[in-house]
Amino acid sequence: MLKELRVSTRSQSQMLDITGQVSEVVAESGIKSGVCYVFVPHTTAGVTINENADPCVVSDILTETDKIVPWKDGYKHMEGNSAAHIKASLMGFCQTVLVECGKLILGTWQGIYFCEFDGPRNRKVFIKIMEA
Ligand code: ZN
Repeated sequence: MLKELRVSTRSQSQMLDITGQVSEVVAESGIKSGVCYVFVPHTTAGVTINENADPCVVSDILTETDKIVPWKDGYKHMEGNSAAHIKASLMGFCQTVLVECGKLILGTWQGIYFCEFDGPRNRKVFIKIMEA
């Protein structure tokens, strides 16, 4: 089963916690034991797993990635959003989370984050859950 989530971002760079939505898809699937793939089909947005307890962690990640990859830095890509492409590749486009007892196996402080780097936009996230 392939499930598509719709995600709306509100700023140029944003990390959106989608753990709840992904958990709902896992519950709906009825699969008790397996693997959940979370795939972002975009080139200027990605997906990562990190702390969802202190929101300062997410803001620090965004602040520091801005320093590592500045928006303007003499890039050649004509569209003018090379920084977003680079940041998306740094985060990656797929995360794999184990499923057991019908639930995502995440660490106590872990959440799944959709990472927008060229927003605001309406985006998609694909979720595939496989029994294993
Ligand atoms: Zn581009």
